[in-house]
Formats: sequence, structure tokens, C-alpha cells
Amino acid sequence: MTAERQLIVRGGRVIDPASGTDALLDVRVVDGRIAEVGAALSNATAEVIDATGLVVSPGFVDLHVHLREPGQEHKETIASGARAAARGGFTTICAMPNTLPAMDTAATIDAVVQRARNADCRVLPIGAVTVGRRGQELTELASLRDAGAVAVSDDGDAVADNAIARRAYEYLADLDLPLAEHCEDPGLSQSGVMHEGAVSARLGLRGQPAQAELAIVQRDIALADAAGAQFHGCHISTEAALAAIGDARARGLRVTAEVTPHHLFLSHDAVAGDSAELLYDTNAKVNPPLRTDADIEACIAALAAGVVQAVATDHAPHAAVDKCCEFDRAAFGISGLESAWPVVNTLVSRGRLSLADAIERMTIGPVRAWNLDTGDLRGLGSLGVGAPADITLLATDASFTVDPEQWESAGKNTPLAGHLLTGAVAATISQGRIVWDGRESA
Ligand SMILES: [Zn+2]
Repeated sequence: MTAERQLIVRGGRVIDPASGTDALLDVRVVDGRIAEVGAALSNATAEVIDATGLVVSPGFVDLHVHLREPGQEHKETIASGARAAARGGFTTICAMPNTLPAMDTAATIDAVVQRARNADCRVLPIGAVTVGRRGQELTELASLRDAGAVAVSDDGDAVADNAIARRAYEYLADLDLPLAEHCEDPGLSQSGVMHEGAVSARLGLRGQPAQAELAIVQRDIALADAAGAQFHGCHISTEAALAAIGDARARGLRVTAEVTPHHLFLSHDAVAGDSAELLYDTNAKVNPPLRTDADIEACIAALAAGVVQAVATDHAPHAAVDKCCEFDRAAFGISGLESAWPVVNTLVSRGRLSLADAIERMTIGPVRAWNLDTGDLRGLGSLGVGAPADITLLATDASFTVDPEQWESAGKNTPLAGHLLTGAVAATISQGRIVWDGRESA
């Protein structure tokens, strides 16, 4: 008989939104699964993790991550992205298919799954909607699902052609896969490099209007409804689009959505930067762009109300050279895995969101949005008995200044560098294995 591998997380405040638990409890892990949650658990041979003073949460689940492998390993690899996820408290991340080549066949998806096998977190692949993400011809959606795709997306671009988007939803209804749409009508966004408004006018930069997002959100609500399929709005950033999504959900339609930490926290003012020498900060260039204060308020309200089910990072790591250039030429994207929890917890500390709701939107919320808790992943996003032993320990009162040079991600591109935030990830346990332990510094 082989010895069981036991771990006890002792003395923490267990918050498990899936079961409504919020109490000082211990968690026992046996062979990579949750075995018991209770008071004063003990076992002579178990490894004990002292969680006194910490919040014990299910491991975070991120529906939207760019890992850059294959094709752009100088920006990030699967291994470095997974280490960044672990440091950020994430134990499951969904990998977007805008790699080179795009993840548009069973073989390219399987290659990512194989390479992620020993990574520091679970990596679930997202397949492309169209071949090469070129928007012209649908991929073999059924074979992508059979290869493990948990959703499909051409993220980086919308599925712009109406007829192709309509046909995609018709197939996806049968396959029961969500279409994770990058909601940007290219005819309206016109290659704008930031939000169209007062700041773009002042800086003389080409803006993209809020209506570019709304147009695709409204189209996809209609197409998904007609087909009986699920539309998932990626990184929704505008008040009007959130209102449309709220209306659709109120009508009972299969519509889900995510918001990013940066859209909850920063406005287009961040593009102007806060340095005296620089006119703009390319680290604040992201798509969809940082919006207005009213849009930030709408994102927070929609998240708190459950109109939005998930906080997703849209982690988009880039090399320094991709950002150290003119604003027009800089790459879009923010490296987000390692600042996500501190940003969300800072909103909690300001009284904008309850701690339980914040954790819900980073655990069971996204899991339910995409029905991820099936088969081997039964219980994912919870601390229920039998669930994968994915556990994140949070220091909710720790304040620190963001320094991307300390991050595991190869992407140091963030407009949050130098910001004072409240909340740190103290430790991360992935499938029963301690993959990040920062308790000394937390
Ligand atoms: Zn996108």
C-alpha cells in the first residue's frame, strides 16, 4: 500500500462561495483532492500549512489568458505564464488561441495541452473560431471540442463577418460550447489606439468609440439567441454594453460576461501617464481601451450585481521592445496575472465589492459561466469534498507597491507599476502541490 500524501491548511478563514462557507476552519487534502473541511483537523503524518490570519479561498480560475507559446516565446512561455498564474493565486487558466500558429486544429490544441502538462497550474485551451483567426472560414469546431477546447474565440479580433458569426453560433449550439467574443466592430473602431473621448482628443491619438463594443455585443446576443447558443462577452468595458448584457440576462438568454481588473480600476487618464517627461504611457495601451470613470463605475456595479460572472485578466505579456516606442506602434495589452487579486481586493478594501463576491467572481463564477466542473474537474472552483485541491491563501490587509520586476511573468508591461495596492496572494496550492509560497513577504 502506498502512503497517502496529506496536507492540512490550518487555522485560516475559509471562504468558499460555492457552498456559502465563511468560517475559521481547516482543510485536509489527500492525494491532490479536498478530503475534508472541518474544525481542528489533525494527522500526525500530514504536512501542515499555517494559514492563521489568512483567507483560504478556492484556487482562482481565469477565463482569459494569452500564453504566447507557440510562436512568441520571447514574450511568455506556457511555463512562465503558469508560474505567473501561481504567483497570482490562479490554479486554472484558459489559454487564448492567438498563438503562432493559431490554435485552430485539434493538433495545435493538443500540443499546448501536452506542453502544459507539468506547468504550475492547469491550462485549459480555447480554440479558434475561424481558420488562422482570419475570419473567413470556420474551424472544425467539433474536433476542437474533442481535443479539449472549453470555448472558442478569435480574441484579438471579433468574428467580424455576420454570416460566419451566425453559422458559428449554429454549430456551437449543438456542441454546447460558448463563443468567447472579442467585442469590437472593426468598421467602428477604425484601428483606434485608445478610447475615443476627451483624452484622445487632447493627446491627438486616434480613438475607438464605445459603440464599437456595443455593436458586436448586440449582434451576438441576437445571433446566439436565434441559434440557442451561448455568447460570452470577453473583457466588457463600456456602460452601454453592460446594460445590453444585463437586459439579455434578464430575458433569460444564454449570455455571460467577464471584466478585467484594469477596466475596474483605471480610466483613459492612465494613457496620459503620470510622468512629467512622457506625454503618454504605452503600458496603458490595451484593447478594449481603458474607458471613462462612468464606465469603471458600470463595470464595478455589473460585477457586484452578478450581471458579470467573472473577473478575467486578459493577461497579455509583451517584451519591453513592444512597448518602448511611439504610442501608435506599441502593442496592445497588459500583463495582468500577478496584479489581479491586489486590484480586486483594493476595491473590496474601498467597500466597492464584498470579499465573498470578489472571491466568487474569481472561482465558482467563471467555472459556472463555462460549465467547467465536469468529469475530472468536478468540484472545480470550490472547496467541496472530492474537488481538485486547488487552494489560494490571501493576505487581504497587506499593502504593497506594484513592482513588475519582481514578477514571474516575462511580461513586465503594466500601467500599475508604482501603484499602492492592498491585498497579496500568500500561497497557492495547485492539485495538492504548493506552487507559490510568499507567506514570508505577505
Ligand atoms: Zn480581446
